[in-house]
Amino acid sequence: MQKTPKINIVIIGAGFAGISTYQNLCKHIKDDTERYSITFITKNNHFLFTPLLHEVATGALNYSHVTEPLRKLIAPHTDIYLNTVTKINPVEKIVSTDKRDFSYDYLIIAAGATTQFFNTPGAKEHTYTLKTVDDAELLRNKIIKTFESATRLHDEKERREKLSFTIVGGGATGVEVAAEMAEFMYGTLQKYYQKYISREDICITLITHGSQVLEQFKESLRPQALKTLHRHGVRTLLNTKVEEVTADSVTIHDGEILPSSITVWAAGVTPNQIPSQPELTMEKSGRIIVNEYLQAETYPDIFVLGDTASMITPEHPHGLPMLAQVATQQGKVAAHNIMASIHQKSLKKFSFNHKGELVSLGQWNALGSISGIGIRGLFAWFVWRTVYLMNFSSWRKRIKIAIDWTINIFTERDITTLK
Ligand SMILES: Cc1cc2nc3c(=O)[nH]c(=O)nc-3n(C[C@H](O)[C@H](O)[C@H](O)COP(=O)(O)OP(=O)(O)OC[C@H]3O[C@@H](n4cnc5c(N)ncnc54)[C@H](O)[C@@H]3O)c2cc1C
Repeated sequence: MQKTPKINIVIIGAGFAGISTYQNLCKHIKDDTERYSITFITKNNHFLFTPLLHEVATGALNYSHVTEPLRKLIAPHTDIYLNTVTKINPVEKIVSTDKRDFSYDYLIIAAGATTQFFNTPGAKEHTYTLKTVDDAELLRNKIIKTFESATRLHDEKERREKLSFTIVGGGATGVEVAAEMAEFMYGTLQKYYQKYISREDICITLITHGSQVLEQFKESLRPQALKTLHRHGVRTLLNTKVEEVTADSVTIHDGEILPSSITVWAAGVTPNQIPSQPELTMEKSGRIIVNEYLQAETYPDIFVLGDTASMITPEHPHGLPMLAQVATQQGKVAAHNIMASIHQKSLKKFSFNHKGELVSLGQWNALGSISGIGIRGLFAWFVWRTVYLMNFSSWRKRIKIAIDWTINIFTERDITTLK
C-alpha cells in the first residue's frame, strides 16, 4: 500500500509566536504525529523570554535563567534547523536559508523584530541594544568594565564623563533599563568601587522624544513612573530628540552634546524582514499584512504572526502592538486555522484579548494595569513578578529565577565578567 505523503509544516522563528503555534499544533496532532512533519527554522537554539532581559543586562539574573533550550521545548518528532532564512518563494512553496532549501505545505512566519534606529547618525555603530542574550551580556560587561576603568581616572571631570550613561527611549524597555541600571550602579557597583567613585560621579539620563514616559500606559500612571525614576537618581529629558551618537557622546536637538560612555538604544523596533519573491504585501514599516485569520494576502497557506505581522483592526489602525501576549495568542489561532485548512473546516478569526501591561521600576516597585485597572508600587511589583514567573515555560526556570530574585534582596548583584 502506498504511504500518504506527510503534511509539511514549517515554522520560521522560535520566539513567542513560533513556540505558541508549535505547542498548540502538537495538541491538535497528538494522536496522528505520523501524518505531519513539523520543522523549525530559527537562528538560535533557545527560546528567549525577553521581558526579563533587562535584568540580565544589569546583573540581576543569569542569562541561562531567561532562556530555554529548544530541544527541551519540542518533541523528538520535530526537526530543528539552526539556519537563517534568506528568502521565501510563496508560489513554489520554498523557504531558502543560508544552508539549504525547505519545501512546505503550510508556512508560519514568526521572525520577530529588531532595533529601529530611525537613521540617527552613529546610533547603529555606537549604541547598545537589548534584543538578544548577547546584547544583554555585552551591556552588562561594558557597564562593569566602565566602572573598573573609571577607578583609574583621578580627574573629577574625566571620571564623571566616563560614568555618564544614556538610555534613549521612554517606552517600557527604556524605563525598565533605566531603573535597573540605577539600582545596579548605585546599589552594587558604587558600593564595590566606593574608594574611587562617589554617588555624585554617576549620571544616568533617560532621553525621550515624547512629552511623557510610558506613553502606551494609562495616563494616570505616567507621572508616577517619572517620579520613581527621579527617586532612583535617573535624570529625564522629555520632548528631546537625539540627533547623533558617538562612542562617548549624545547630541540632542538643540545642539547640546552630552557625555555618554554607554548609550542604550531602546527607541524603536522594526520587523525582521525576509525577502520574498513574489513579494508578500507589507505595510510601510515592513510588517506583512495579514487578514483576520492571520493569513498573508493572496497566500492562504502562509500564516504570519507576532512582531512580523500587521493586523489592522478598528482599535489598532496601525496594526496590533508588538507584544509577547499578541504573539502567544496568535499562535493558538494559527495552529487552529492550519488544522482547519487541512480538514477543510471553517477558520477562526483572531481577536486580541489585551490582558494589560506591567513595567518594573526596580526593586519593590512596578506599575501597570490589569484588565483596565491601574496598579502601582509594591503590590504591582508582586503582580509583575508573579505574572512573569507564571508565564515562564518550565518550573525549573521559575524556581531558578525566584531564587535569584530572593538572593538579590539581601546581596549585591554579580559583577563577574568573562569576556
Ligand atoms: C527587552 C524586551 C522586553 C520586552 N518586554 C515585553 C513585555 O514585558 N511584555 C510583552 O508583551 N512584550 C515584551 N517585549 C516584546 C516581545 O518580546 C515581542 O513582542 C515578542 O517576542 C514577539 O514574538 P515573536 O515570536 O514575533 O518574535 P520573537 O520572540 O522575537 O522571535 C523571533 C524568532 O525568529 C528568529 N528569527 C529572526 N529572523 C530569522 C531568520 N531570518 N531566520 C530564522 N529565524 C529568524 C529569532 O531567532 C527568534 O527565534 C519585549 C521585547 C524586548 C526586546
